[in-house]
Amino acid sequence: MTASGAGRQFEAPPSTPLYVHLPFCAAKCHYCDFFSVPAEGQDVEGTLAAVELEIRLRAPRAPRTLFLGGGTPSLLSISQLRRLFDALQQSTGFRDSAVEVTVECNPESLDEDKARALLDLGVTRLSIGFQSLRGETLELFGRVHGVDQSFRAFDAARRAGIKSLNIDLIYANPGQTLEQWQADLRRVLALEPEHISAYNLTFEEDTLFRRWLQQGRLQPQSDDAELEFFWWTREHLASTARVAYEISNFALNGHQCAHNINYWNNGTYVGVGPSAVSKLGFERSGNIRHLGEYRRRMAQNEDPRDWDERPSAWARLGESWWLGLRRTEGLSALEAWTRAGLKDWRPEADPALEIAQRSSEQGWLGQVGERWALTRRGWPLADAVAREFLRLGQLNQPAPAELLG
Ligand code: SF4
Repeated sequence: MTASGAGRQFEAPPSTPLYVHLPFCAAKCHYCDFFSVPAEGQDVEGTLAAVELEIRLRAPRAPRTLFLGGGTPSLLSISQLRRLFDALQQSTGFRDSAVEVTVECNPESLDEDKARALLDLGVTRLSIGFQSLRGETLELFGRVHGVDQSFRAFDAARRAGIKSLNIDLIYANPGQTLEQWQADLRRVLALEPEHISAYNLTFEEDTLFRRWLQQGRLQPQSDDAELEFFWWTREHLASTARVAYEISNFALNGHQCAHNINYWNNGTYVGVGPSAVSKLGFERSGNIRHLGEYRRRMAQNEDPRDWDERPSAWARLGESWWLGLRRTEGLSALEAWTRAGLKDWRPEADPALEIAQRSSEQGWLGQVGERWALTRRGWPLADAVAREFLRLGQLNQPAPAELLG
């Protein structure tokens, strides 16, 4: 994408969900492939000023949800957070419109004063990265906090009066036994969080963990062990009324993350900050993944976006299935069709149905009424099943013009 005047930005319709990416962390975790860097030695103030400028230029009015992620937004000082939220309020009026305002936090940078300040600024939900309840695992992960600190941060958030709290955890770690995970999850549940995100450890490209795996320094869990972790987690959390509404996300009724549900529904959203992705209409775009260049572009009134794409109608249909199947409630063919921006759905025109049928014959997908969802056999293969639908993007025959919305 060529740089052009930042003032000539796309206009997002009012109520579009807004994501703000704050890329600074206390240290880089060894498994993490997000665009995030240790804050030390970085121009945090300059980057914040650039993000605030982008908010003024591109943030939608009256966003339905607001999510501050990263990175570790809680690393910012109270005065920095205040400035950022003031800019958000002035540009968007989110305090009158957002049904949910989430901030991602890490235990080393969340105390009661900060949690109270966040509440005063309009935050309704905190997501706290515990990741593990074992000191040696936190060390292996490269985390800078201890286990006690995680519990203290959670208590601080509760005392401050935050009503919706998520705890992030990672399971199936090298050397972890199911019994250890069971004990750890039970300890976490004793805190009574409204929401738990529990992720199976993955070894992403360009991470230290991936290198250590290739060098044989880390032993991954077997597929069978991962399955045991997965099913026990799902069933145990269901028994505590924290129902899996997505592959890795569990919530008490009324505490599902509305911002993320919009992603899985293939909805539109605006992302601001370095590397942040936006999806508006049929276009997806992403900001530059370089701090200095991001600051420079914002300072010189240039476009912060580095790429954009316009997936074909069939590609959008495949993405709608791919995302929708992550949710326990699945989706109907008509929903996928509409989310892809297509009209006049009819079964004979829908190439996704053939894939759904095939997956159903394999026992991976089931149908209840109009809705398709992963079966018990399909859940562990969710990624592979969902990827089948992404192949729709490779269809040679474009969608007929009369079906395009
Ligand atoms: S704190 Fe979160 S964003 Fe930062 S490096 Fe660790 S996992 Fe990545």
